[in-house]
Amino acid sequence: MQNWLEYFEFLGFEYIYLKEKKEKNQFLEKLDSLEKIVKNCTLCPLHIGRKQAVFADGNPSSPLMFIGEAPGEEEDIKGLPFVGRAGQLLTKMIIKMGLKREDVYITNIVKCRPPNNRDPLPEEIVKCSPYLLEQIEIIKPKVIVTLGRHSSGYFTEMEVGISKYRGRWFYFKGIPVMPTFHPSYLLRNPKDRWLVWEDMKEVLKKLNLKILE
Ligand code: SF4
Repeated sequence: MQNWLEYFEFLGFEYIYLKEKKEKNQFLEKLDSLEKIVKNCTLCPLHIGRKQAVFADGNPSSPLMFIGEAPGEEEDIKGLPFVGRAGQLLTKMIIKMGLKREDVYITNIVKCRPPNNRDPLPEEIVKCSPYLLEQIEIIKPKVIVTLGRHSSGYFTEMEVGISKYRGRWFYFKGIPVMPTFHPSYLLRNPKDRWLVWEDMKEVLKKLNLKILE
């Protein structure tokens, strides 16, 4: 028996299987422990009004990460990002890209709901963004799409309106970042949906995926 194990080990099978499994477990364990920390976080005043912190949804092994701003009312109730009307629009966009929601990873720059769905404050972004940076560090996405001016401004360091720079590639620690409009903006301005579709076509090209028109 020992000889067979040594033989497989010599061929690399046993070693490769155990290594991959171990790495996958470590990767998921890191994300789980980060999620537990976020769920119990009291670093900024947003923890006072939340029902729950919203960590992420989707596939952590995905090459594509979407980053929005902060949870809204529905997200706060369900504990998942982008599940309200804006989220349904994002899901439609993902499907138009030829993907499923479960194929991508979705999160926000701020993990707790601001009161009355107001924009996150700069100090809340400063407190909360290290969690997002840790998620990126663990997941190592191939492409990031930032949705709306807060997450886009954070990753691009642009201080002008997002309409001035959406659709252009930026780089964060070597990862390509595509800033685009937030789906809630598109609900108010449906005429601009085609612009986001143009941006998503660039994302598909970057990932070497087919564009379905
Ligand atoms: Fe903590 Fe972020 Fe929630 Fe503030 S928003 S309490 S920093 S998890």
